[in-house]
Amino acid sequence: MIKANDTNLKSWIDVKPNSDFPIQNIPFGIYKNKYGQHRAATAIGDYLVDLAVLHHYGIFGELSLPSPIHSTEKQTTLPVGIFEKDFLNDFIALGKEATSAVRQRISDVLNADNPEFRDDANLREKALFTLAEIEMCMPVKVGNYTDFYSSMEHATNVGTMFRDPANALLPNWKHIPVGYHGRASSIVISGVNIHRPKGQTKADDAPAPSFGPTKQLDFELEMAFITNQNTALGSSISTAEAEDYIFGMVLFNDWSARDIQKWEYVPLGPFLAKNFASSASPWIVTLDALQAFKVKGPEQNPEVLPYLKYSGEKNYDINLEVFIQPENSEAKKVCTSNFRYMYWNMAQQLTHHTSNGCNICVGDLYASGTISGAAPDSYGSMLELCWKGTKPIAMPDGSERKFIADGDTVIMKGFAEKNGVRVGFGEVKSKVLPAT
Ligand code: MN
Repeated sequence: MIKANDTNLKSWIDVKPNSDFPIQNIPFGIYKNKYGQHRAATAIGDYLVDLAVLHHYGIFGELSLPSPIHSTEKQTTLPVGIFEKDFLNDFIALGKEATSAVRQRISDVLNADNPEFRDDANLREKALFTLAEIEMCMPVKVGNYTDFYSSMEHATNVGTMFRDPANALLPNWKHIPVGYHGRASSIVISGVNIHRPKGQTKADDAPAPSFGPTKQLDFELEMAFITNQNTALGSSISTAEAEDYIFGMVLFNDWSARDIQKWEYVPLGPFLAKNFASSASPWIVTLDALQAFKVKGPEQNPEVLPYLKYSGEKNYDINLEVFIQPENSEAKKVCTSNFRYMYWNMAQQLTHHTSNGCNICVGDLYASGTISGAAPDSYGSMLELCWKGTKPIAMPDGSERKFIADGDTVIMKGFAEKNGVRVGFGEVKSKVLPAT
């Protein structure tokens, strides 16, 4: 049991019952301060805490940290300036023992009984801000982005629609956590607007392809994990070790253009239908904070190969929701899903990814693939929810959607809840603008 996860903990900062950020969460992010500088921060209730300011005030001075990775020197303090970088990469590269110790120390100074931060008016004024007044930035510099395809319901739905309902899953699917290498440069933070992509498409009855704005812009409800170490080329990570390499998770909207995808994907898989944008939520919720929400995954049958076997609970019970908000109208919830539905867990994904000796890097991002459940309202994309456009969704303003329209804002939310504690991710929210 991690001390910072104790459900009895209370903060001196007021936290509303439905907040995603109680003292048991302590996520990490990057925000822009009033001087335009990027600073590391955590969130609690409706507030943001600047970790660089805490560090300057000596809050982390007594911290006992393990040796840095790849070093024989004993480290007892946090490096100066570690929270004053554009991204969290250097911080998370300190390794899990160090980042867990920092999370614990933050929990201690936010605790209702601890006066260090609570009673220091000067520190409060310099380090504490309301989230509503803050601009968040990408938390990590993503070097490599991999997208898996690990929801059996999603893969089955897509296979049923586009290939053969009787053989919806391809023969490899239950043996391999299928994935592809995506594009890191176009991953953006929540709040960044997305222009409708243009591309080459070909209607089934058209004699030749044409070029123009996609007519089938879609979201993909996903979650993504971020790795905290560089590994050597040629080395592999076992399922037992995998979670040591995972710092935490974010919500992830993997935007997709279905008509472009349909025409381009054979034989090498997704390309321009996917790489125009993916949107991430700003707060990385640590695997530490999610520990209480571990659950058993779906039974894997047929039995997986020995290198993909795992023990213990490796799925996570995280409620997921998707809303579409048309321009000048209220939002409508179109999907209610859960991360626990994943057939392949994150440990298996990372193990498979490195099983051939592929090295991983600090700040790499690994997305789950669209997270669909068994119920039709749990499907994680418009493609599935509207079943290839055959079942439109009615919107509050009287319009209907088969895919995403210009002016629509897509909002994804996620939270885990147990024993009166809610650990959430906030949201990833992006508006679609017309094609340029
Ligand atoms: Mn995807």
